[in-house]
Amino acid sequence: MVTRFAPSPTGLLHVGHGWSALMAHDLTRAASGAFRLRIEDIDGARSRPDHVAGIIADLTWLGVAWDGDIVFQSQRLDAYEAALELLRAQGLLYPCFCTRADIQASLTAPHGPEGPVYPGTCRGLSDAGRARRIDAGEARAWRIDMAQAVARVGALTWAALPFPPGLDTNRSINANPIAHGDVVLARKDAPASYHLSCTLDDAAMGVTHVLRGDDLRGATDIHRLLQALLGLPSPAYVHHPLLVGSDGKRLAKRSGSIAIAQLRAQGVAPDALAADLRAGRFPVGIALASA
Ligand code: GLU
Repeated sequence: MVTRFAPSPTGLLHVGHGWSALMAHDLTRAASGAFRLRIEDIDGARSRPDHVAGIIADLTWLGVAWDGDIVFQSQRLDAYEAALELLRAQGLLYPCFCTRADIQASLTAPHGPEGPVYPGTCRGLSDAGRARRIDAGEARAWRIDMAQAVARVGALTWAALPFPPGLDTNRSINANPIAHGDVVLARKDAPASYHLSCTLDDAAMGVTHVLRGDDLRGATDIHRLLQALLGLPSPAYVHHPLLVGSDGKRLAKRSGSIAIAQLRAQGVAPDALAADLRAGRFPVGIALASA
C-alpha cells in the first residue's frame, strides 16, 4: 500500500491539511505501507520555496513522517511533456488560444461539476489556422478533446473507499469525465495542468490509495480517464469532507488564523493537536462540512 500527501506550496498549511495528512499517514502505517510526500509546485507564479519549507516544518512538527525522497513536480516536467506528446500523437489534444475573458463571454457555456465547461471554441480551428497562430507566438494551452477521448476508452469506473477511511468496503463508482468538458492538460503558463501531473505522479510513485478532499471528487473522473488513455493503474480513492470555519466557508490557505504554523507559534502541543485531529476534534469554530 502506498499513499501520499500532495500539497501545493502556495500558502500555509491549515488544520484541514494536517488532518488529511494524518489520515493518509495512519491508513498506510496500519497496513505497513509507504506514505509519500509530493510537492505540487509546477505553478511557478504561485509556488514559493518558503511555503515548501513551511510544509516540511509543519508536518515534522505534527509527527507526520514520510517515506523516501520528497517528489517535486517541478523536477518531473519531462515526464509530463512525454505524456502530452503521446496524447497529441493520438489526436486527442488541441491548442486553445482563448483567454479567460473569451470563455466568460461565451454566454452559452454550460456548467459542469467544477464550474463552467469550456465551450469548445478552439476545437474547430483548422490545422492551418492553428499553425498560423502558433507560428505567430500566440500563447496557448492544450486541451483534451473529451468526447473523442471518452469514445476511445469507453465506460470507466473507479474504486471508492469509505470515509472514515477503512480498507474493507470497496465501491465501484461510474466515472463521468464528459461532464467536465475539454479540460486543460497543459496550461499557457505551466507545462502541465494539475490533472495531468497528478495522474502521472500517482502512477510513477506507485500510489495505491489516494486520500483527498471532497473538492477533488470531480477531478477523479478526469484522472481515471487519463489513466485509461495512458495505460496507467488506477488507485482506490477516499474523498474526505472538507473543514469549514465558523463562517461556514471552507478553510483556505489564506485564513492564517487556523494555520498549523500559528498553532505552533502559540505553543500548542503537537501530540495533543494530532490526537485531537485523529479523534475528529477540531479547534474552536472549525467543523466538518455537512455533506
Ligand atoms: N495539490 C492539491 C492541493 O493542494 C492536492 C492534490 C491531490 O491530493 O490530488 O489541493
